[in-house]
Amino acid sequence: MTSEAKVQDALDAVRTRLDAAARRAGRDPSAVALLAVSKTHGPDAVRAAYAHGQRDFGENYVQELVTKAAALADLVGLRWHLIGHLQTNKCREVAGLVATVQSVDSERLVKELGRRATATGRTLEILIQVNVACEAQKSGCDLAALPQLIAAAQGTPGVRLRGLMTVPPAVDDPVESRRWFDALRGLREAHGGEVLLPDLSMGMTHDMEEAVAAGATVVRVGTAIFGTRDP
Ligand SMILES: *Cc1c(COP(=O)(O)O)cnc(C)c1O
Repeated sequence: MTSEAKVQDALDAVRTRLDAAARRAGRDPSAVALLAVSKTHGPDAVRAAYAHGQRDFGENYVQELVTKAAALADLVGLRWHLIGHLQTNKCREVAGLVATVQSVDSERLVKELGRRATATGRTLEILIQVNVACEAQKSGCDLAALPQLIAAAQGTPGVRLRGLMTVPPAVDDPVESRRWFDALRGLREAHGGEVLLPDLSMGMTHDMEEAVAAGATVVRVGTAIFGTRDP
């Protein structure tokens, strides 16, 4: 099998798993968007997925994103999403390039993204990344700081807050991730519900079904589509 066919078969398998998980949870499969995480994989892997209908791609590192986006500028309708930690001095590079920044975790970042997006004449969609298990040295907003960060995001021109994102602690049994996914959904309920925060970005290769069962509207899947990443 060619590497292109491998990616396309894997993409089909992931979509089948997500659709089945949605139906088991009594949810409409079309309410679960798949973000294909292409970090460390080359432009050809992205092209293979795109040729198979995939349009949303996630990247973690700004430099890799910029390089890959340039190499794939011919793919009409492809949307990039930044899901990795962002430094304020990189906001200018991403504000005109991505559809959403899912890893917003400080007011400084909100303000700078808003300023840069406004300068390019657009409104940038953002998600707030929440450190839902209060892990030390992990990206994401602290629970205590979340209300203020939500308010800041809602009051900043140039950005539109779409919801919340989380990366729960790594565990062997995906069932253990469920409580953190439920916690993220609970935070959404506490801050205006689906009306104000329509998106919950949660679930990766290891625990995508658990996330869908808990209400994910975006799952971020890399390994199950593109294979394992070289270190
Ligand atoms: C790498 C990454 C993913 C994808 O992880 P897989 O286990 O390869 O599916 C999802 N979200 C974030 C934030 C990531 O860094």
